[in-house]
Amino acid sequence: MTMLSRHKLLELNDAWNPVIECCGIILRDFTLVPLQNHSSTPELNFIMKWEDYEPYRDQIIATWHTHPHESANLSVADYLMFKSNPEWRHFIVARDIIWAYSTRNSRVFLDKTYSIPRAPEGSLS
Ligand SMILES: [Zn+2]
Repeated sequence: MTMLSRHKLLELNDAWNPVIECCGIILRDFTLVPLQNHSSTPELNFIMKWEDYEPYRDQIIATWHTHPHESANLSVADYLMFKSNPEWRHFIVARDIIWAYSTRNSRVFLDKTYSIPRAPEGSLS
């Protein structure tokens, strides 16, 4: 099971966007690779193209995508993508929270929730 360090969680959370869904993959060495969202309605969903992640195929350990709104709810497309890639973990990133999903026995599970507390605006940290 892929565990991410606090540093990586913050880096992943920085990929969050309040308007559109962003997406990408995580490699075995924990590099976060952003990929283009090919959806024609990126505020609602994401589409990653095979040719974009095929060069990394042997190194992928997880996928990630962002939800502009604070919801872990899987879209049908999310569910099907998670289910059809059981060898990878799948992260959904919202503003202050990251959800990790995995697939076992053809079932998709939410198996970890990471809260990402932010320093209040203007505070010194
Ligand atoms: Zn989604």
